[in-house]
Formats: sequence, structure tokens, C-alpha cells
Amino acid sequence: MEKKITVLPGDGIGPEVMKGALEILDGVATRFGHAFHTTVKKFGGAAIDHSGSPLPEDTLLACKQSDAVLLGAVGGPQWDGNIVRPEHGLLRLRKELNVFANLRPVQVFPGLENLSPLKSNRVKGADFIFVRELTGGIYFSQPKTRDKEGKNATDTLFYSSEEVERIVEKAFELASVRKGKVTSVDKANVLETSKMWREIVDSTAKKYPNVQVEHMLVDYAAMRLISEPSKFDVIVTENMFGDILSDEAAVIPGSLGVMPSASLSGNGPGLYEPIHGSAPDIAGKGEANPVGMILSAAMMLRHSFQLEKEAEAVERAVFETLQAGYRTRDIYSGTGYLTSTKEMVNQIHLRM
Ligand code: ATP
Ligand code: MG
Repeated sequence: MEKKITVLPGDGIGPEVMKGALEILDGVATRFGHAFHTTVKKFGGAAIDHSGSPLPEDTLLACKQSDAVLLGAVGGPQWDGNIVRPEHGLLRLRKELNVFANLRPVQVFPGLENLSPLKSNRVKGADFIFVRELTGGIYFSQPKTRDKEGKNATDTLFYSSEEVERIVEKAFELASVRKGKVTSVDKANVLETSKMWREIVDSTAKKYPNVQVEHMLVDYAAMRLISEPSKFDVIVTENMFGDILSDEAAVIPGSLGVMPSASLSGNGPGLYEPIHGSAPDIAGKGEANPVGMILSAAMMLRHSFQLEKEAEAVERAVFETLQAGYRTRDIYSGTGYLTSTKEMVNQIHLRM
């Protein structure tokens, strides 16, 4: 299979973890006989320094013309005071690619249970994924108003049925190839958008008789997430609820460095990035954890290229490397081998 990938290393540890992911993709290409054509482009702070814009036109064009986009991380203290900031580039890129579905797996890896601030027997076996609506809802709906005196303000929460249908469909598709359960999170006791959301979930469910469905109010879901994280499979929810709950859930594994994400559109290229930021405190030290970036590349293989076997091979290699005791500093707690970014990538590569 031949695929075009636009590579945006970005800032801070972005380029370091990206290097690792590209090495692993090379390994996949060789072992399975694929050709991944990569084009590296400037993005974020690096692009601001170069041309004044965090998302230069040639970068955007390359992204739109590719089959998938891999992103490291953007931002850093040197641009914090700027009017034009690296993060604006990311918001614009998401909008331009129309990526409406944000997928965030939350997984506690065997052997890493002790990193979680929650009791290890509680998080053991947790393995679920958020499907968050990313382009609609209260963050973007119009009107947004503020009166002249500044004493009254309005935000609007709007969803069209089409917007809800496409995200809910995504969740069911995923659940049918995972553990077969969808938890739909809403606030249907007070919100009209949530009532419509529930109806759409129930009617979509009819097409997936093998998928079990539960509805959960967002306040209760916030509690259940940390009291019984292993009970979830696919959690589908609207933009703001997903924003809040997915950050809450990020504490379950106890490490930012191992968590991937994907943002998908209907038929255009998907955007794949680790959930961590540019981690300026460790940039250039060669100790960043490449696992979040590498697992994001595995998500790209699965969701944009439909290369399931290949995605699983990468995930298995990561799993086995962690089980063999290799640890970058962020996940090292006294046992196993303290390893650099480079060594971690080598070990994963060896197990492919
Ligand atoms: P942003 O504002 O871009 O979200 P942030 O400062 O909120 O960034 P991160 O940069 O993601 O958050 O990370 C916070 C801290 O976690 C970092 O300073 C770093 O010490 C640690 N960290 C994050 N990602 C990694 C990684 N891949 N490997 C090792 N440590 C990491
Ligand atoms: Mg942050």
C-alpha cells in the first residue's frame, strides 16, 4: 500500500518523539511491504519563527493533499507573549481539515498501574476510548453575545442531527470491533440538545444489535470514570463534556507520555498526535517518552489506512517493551531499565 503522510514535528519534544515514530513506521513499511511517503513541514512555534505564521499556506496545502497528518507537539514559553501563538495554528488546522471526531484511548498498561494516583487495583484493566465531538457545541455555536455594559453574556449550545449522527455512528463502529459497549454521556435531564442526542443514540443502536448501550448523565459519568474506570469501552459525548471528561481521565494512566489521540473527518486526512504538549522542561535532553507519539502513529495505521494488523504489531511491540521493563524517566519508578528516547524506540523496533 502507498500512502502520503504530512509530518509536522512542531516544537519542544515534538521533533524528538516524531523521529521515533517515523523509525517505527519505517519498520512497519519494511516488514509489511508498504510505502509511506513523508513530507516534513513547519508548524507551530517553529513556523512562526520562520515565516510569522503558525500554519503557513504550504504546510496547510501539504496536509490537505495527504492521506494523514502526524503531529508532534506545539507551543513553548518563548511564544507565550505573542499575539500570534503556536496553538492558533492547531485550531486552524483542525478547522481546515474538518476533523469532527476526537478519539482518545485511555489505557493502563500492565506493569504501569503504580503510576496512577488512583489505587492500582482500581485502574487495573482500564481500557476505554473517548469519542468526542470536536467541531460543534457550545464552543462554536452562534450567537455569542456580550452587552455594552458587559453585564450580560450568552453562549449558544446548538447541534444539528447530522452532526450528532456522524459522531454517534463513529462510536458504534468502534464499539463493534472493541468490547461491544457504548456509553453515551449527556445531560438529558436539562438540555434539549442532549434529549436529541439520546434519541439519535437509540436509533443508531438498532443497527448494531451486538453493541450494548448505556446512557449516563455527565455528572455521574465524572464520578464513575475514576471510581470504576475498567467498566467502560467506548464513551461518546459532545464537545464540552468530552473536553472535561477526557482531561479528567488522563490522570488514570498517571502519565501523559504514553497517551495517543486521533482526530478524524468524514473522508479527508485524519490528524494524529500524542496528548502531551511540547514539554519545554525536557526538550533537547533525549529523555522524552516516545510512546504517545508511536501509539498515535498506530492509530493512523488503523483509522486512516485500515491497516489493522500493522497497528496491532506496533501496539504489541510497545506493550512488550514496557513489559520487559524499559522505562523513560517519566514512567520510571525504581524498577526496570531507565532508558533514553532513542533506546526506547530501538527496543520497540526490535519487537516489531
Ligand atoms: P501544553 O500547554 O502544550 O499542553 P503542558 O505544559 O500543559 O503543555 P506538557 O508539555 O504536555 O503539558 O507536559 C507537562 C509535563 O509532563 C512536561 O513538562 C514534562 O515534564 C511531562 N511530559 C509530558 N510529555 C512527556 C513525554 N512525552 N515524555 C516525558 N515527559 C513528558
Ligand atoms: Mg497545557
